[in-house]
Amino acid sequence: MAERRPDRTRGPRHDEFWAFCDKGELRVQSCAACGRLSWPVVDECEHCGSPELSWAKMSGRGKIVSWCSFEYDYYKGTLPIPYDTILVELDEGPMFVSNPKGFGFRDIEIGMPVKLAFLACEDEGGAFQLPVFERA
Ligand SMILES: [Zn+2]
Repeated sequence: MAERRPDRTRGPRHDEFWAFCDKGELRVQSCAACGRLSWPVVDECEHCGSPELSWAKMSGRGKIVSWCSFEYDYYKGTLPIPYDTILVELDEGPMFVSNPKGFGFRDIEIGMPVKLAFLACEDEGGAFQLPVFERA
């Protein structure tokens, strides 16, 4: 049973990101000009402005650097409250906002290693795989 989620941001580059997720891959944009990674999705490299971007596959490993438990109903009932959000520093460098899988904020220690998992979800655009993180 897919979890109902707020609508994703859509568009050509966003749709490419979600297509990789549907294949079980977490990818972020890599710049052909400077070699650095950009996240969230951009039209031009966030470091040098080049539009020459490809998708680099992430290892799915990282560590929690911050977290927040939301108690306000920002999504008008789409997400049951409270819900936990984590900020994961991927081993490759980008900071990735996500949700914890299999643990809650009371279990979190800053620096805790995590690994990528996917959660079957749906929004107005249909079914999709949401990248989340579980204990490594
Ligand atoms: Zn660049």
